[in-house]
Amino acid sequence: MSDKPVNESRRGALKAMVGGLAAAPLMNLVGLTAAQAGDSPEKITADDPRAKVVKYNPDATKSVRDAEAMNQVCGNCMLYVAREEEDGEWGTCAAVGNQLVSTKGWCVAWSLKQQPNV
Ligand code: SF4
Repeated sequence: MSDKPVNESRRGALKAMVGGLAAAPLMNLVGLTAAQAGDSPEKITADDPRAKVVKYNPDATKSVRDAEAMNQVCGNCMLYVAREEEDGEWGTCAAVGNQLVSTKGWCVAWSLKQQPNV
């Protein structure tokens, strides 16, 4: 076997790798855009990496919280956006990539929802 076919094969493999590396960020952007543009959000679980970052648990009673945080749940959090199609039990949250969180959930990013002035 001569060197030439091997070198050409290596060159082809390198081109494919470089092309693949260049395309990967673009594919991520396309995927991100598609997710933001219309994909339905999913009910996020506590073991999802996005949930782990903020220690989200869909059942706040199972979260390790300070005593003053016992009344904090996703449903009264500023980041919670209720979704009518989820019967008021689930809403999206920016802290977990706009996925669905339970009204009864909690995470360390909880922030009191502002009440409208009356
Ligand atoms: S930021 Fe608020 S709504 Fe989002 S997961 Fe944490 S407690 Fe729930």
